[in-house]
Order: sequence, then structure tokens, then C-alpha cells
Amino acid sequence: MSAELASTAKSVREFDVEKVRSDFPILQQQINGHPLVYLDNAASTQKPNSVIDAISNYYRTINSNVHRGAHHLSDMATEAFEGARQTVSEFLNSPKKEQILWVRGTTEAVNLVAHSWGRHNINAGDKILVSTMEHHSNIVPWQILAEEKGASVVPIPITAKGEIDLHALEGMLDHSVKLVSVNQVSNALGTVNPVADIVQLAKKVGAKSFVDGAQAVAHFPVDLVSLGCDFYAFSAHKLFGPTGIGVLWGKEELLDSMPPYHGGGEMIETCSFACTTYNKLPYKFEAGTPDIAGAIGLAAAIDYVQSFDRAQISQHENTLLSYCHELAAHCDGLSRVGEAENIAGVFSFLLKGAHPSDVGMLLDQQGVAVRTGHHCAQPLMDALNIPGTVRASFSIYNTKEDIDRLFAALDKVKQFL
Ligand code: PMP
Repeated sequence: MSAELASTAKSVREFDVEKVRSDFPILQQQINGHPLVYLDNAASTQKPNSVIDAISNYYRTINSNVHRGAHHLSDMATEAFEGARQTVSEFLNSPKKEQILWVRGTTEAVNLVAHSWGRHNINAGDKILVSTMEHHSNIVPWQILAEEKGASVVPIPITAKGEIDLHALEGMLDHSVKLVSVNQVSNALGTVNPVADIVQLAKKVGAKSFVDGAQAVAHFPVDLVSLGCDFYAFSAHKLFGPTGIGVLWGKEELLDSMPPYHGGGEMIETCSFACTTYNKLPYKFEAGTPDIAGAIGLAAAIDYVQSFDRAQISQHENTLLSYCHELAAHCDGLSRVGEAENIAGVFSFLLKGAHPSDVGMLLDQQGVAVRTGHHCAQPLMDALNIPGTVRASFSIYNTKEDIDRLFAALDKVKQFL
């Protein structure tokens, strides 16, 4: 092994779930008299000490405004903030760090593109295709845009298994389609969508593509060069980072051609009453004082994830999911919702005779945290003809014992029915 390879190999941490758990202080708690089983990771992940420390150290030692360059603390804060952008850029394999824009999260990223790119590129009669399994944040901003422009948002159907119907999509694509926007992983079903193929199909008719990576980045590596999409977004809080910060990535020529989203400080080159000119990328889209601590926290979260061999994380989560499916197959009255070939981190289900919210409440009483309801995917629930599901979602720190606890708790829930 070369010295370089040897040092790379050394820097990868061995995946040991008990050690991983000890990195997350919140997991050591009791909830309702039981050790916490946290299975709501698709809603938000917990934070390791290194992320909590990075945020608190920022406030303790270098808190200051960025890009002012007037004093030492400001220089330090700017260095950490722009270093965080570089970390995200490498994480996504972005050609340039200037293509990484800080936003509040995936929701704001979609709204930014709808307002800025959409208002200048979508016209009456145009179509925006979204899949039936999108989160509301990847539907409503396009609907607002479509209403303003006389365009339409058209759902791409899904199959009975809960996969995007690629055949149907091909039939829907013509030159009236200007954008195809899909999630890489469904938050409600866990389906991993073949986004690279979808991007290629969109390209054939000259449509742009937006990939919502909110549920993807924590589960497997994302390479934007090979994905080929025009826009990509994710939220830090689903990747062990803080709330209130996320990333929009875009192709450079598109971002360059787009007008600003918000006006204010930082986003201008010069400002006068006669004429205001705009700053270069990425600052053109970053009006106002940014979430500096958030960006630093996100970079620490990425460093945390990258300290492992990511294939081992995926393998661990897939083992948990298979174990869960095994136990589900022997659980009377339980029916899975979503049986795609490729699922990441999500187990959605219904229990016969019980409303999902009652199941969630009874699980919580036993210390098991899950999400219930429509998961901000009402059109999907309508298509499946169900009011909602119970969703257990897994992460790096979950164990087989967590799943045993889930099923033991479900057995108790059944006694109430
Ligand atoms: N898309 C998907 C697939 C999601 O799961 C979520 C969050 N549940 C969002 C978008 C919105 O993310 P945020 O609330 O962090 O903006």
C-alpha cells in the first residue's frame, strides 16, 4: 500500500454502532420511563457531540460577522464559513464551491429556484412535472409559480410498489415540459428514485431538472457530476447538522443567468439610487447576515459522516431495514406501505384497526419515537387512498434492539385494539 493510501485508510473510522451511539448525547435519555428508541430520522436526525461542539465553539471563540474583514474575529469567522462551503462542495462533488448557496433548507431552495429561475423561464402553457410522491415543499412553490404564469404542475404517476412510473414519465415528456422536479429518496416511502435516468429523460426534451436530496444525503454519497441535474438541494438537519440551514446547488451558467431572490446587504456589487449592480456567485443569492454557526455546524456534520466508510453506513441501515421487513412479515395486522426494490432508511406501515396517530401515541408512551400522518405528502396519500402511515425511519445509530423494541411495543399496541 502506498503511504498516501495508508494514511487515507487510517483516517476512516471503524463502524461500531455502540461507539456511534455514544457520540449522540440525546440518545442516552429515558422517555416516558423507557430508554429512547429514536426512529424519526426522516423528520430530523440527532446531532453528534462534534456538531454541537462546533456550533458552541464558534459562539464561544470566533463569533463575528463574515465578509467584513475589519478585524481578527471577522477574518476567523469568514474563514470557517467559507471553509464550510468548501466542505459541502467536496461532499457533493461540485465542480466549484461558488455553486453552493446557503439557504434555510430544502424548502427555501425550491422556493428560490421557483422565484428566480421559474419566474423568468416558465410561461403560459408550460408544464412542470413532479412525482406523485413529492413532499409538499416540492409541489406548492411550483403551484404558486404555475398559477402566476398560467402554467401547470403535472404529477408523474407511481406504480403499485411505490416507484416512479418511468414509462408513464416518458409518455409525458414533450417540449411543453420545462422542468422535472423529483426527490431522490421519498420521505414517506423511502423509495430511492433513479434520478440520473430521470434527469437524462428530461434533457431529451430540453427540460431542466431539480433533485430534492433531503432524504438522500444521510444515506449514501451523492455525486452531482454523475447525476447531471441542474439543481440539487438538501437540509442540514437531516444529515446530523443544525436546523435552519441547507444548500441549494445549481449549474453555474444557470445560477449566473438567474436574477437575485432576496435583495439586501451582501448581494450587491454597488448600490445607488440610480443603479444597483449585483454581486458574483454565490453572494448574489445570499442577502443579509447568514447562518454562520449553521454553516459551520453543517460542515462538522459532513466531517462526521465522512469519518466513516459510507458503504458501511448504507450496509448497516440496509441490514436494519431487512430485519424490520422480516419481523413485519410475522406481525399480524401489519401491512407495509411502499415496497420499492430500492428503499433507504424508511419503514412505512399501517396496523389494521388502528389510526396511525393512535399507534404513534401508544409507541411514544413506550419510549419509541416514530412519525405518523401524511408526512407532508398528501397527494401521495390520496393516490394510495390512505389517510397516512406510521413511519419508522433509521439512521446510523439505530440497532436491531431498537427494531425489537418497536415490534414489542407494537404487540402491546395491538392489545389496546
Ligand atoms: N423534501 C423531502 C423529501 C423532505 O423529507 C423534506 C423534510 N421532511 C423536505 C423536502 C423539506 O425539508 P425542510 O423542511 O428541511 O426544508
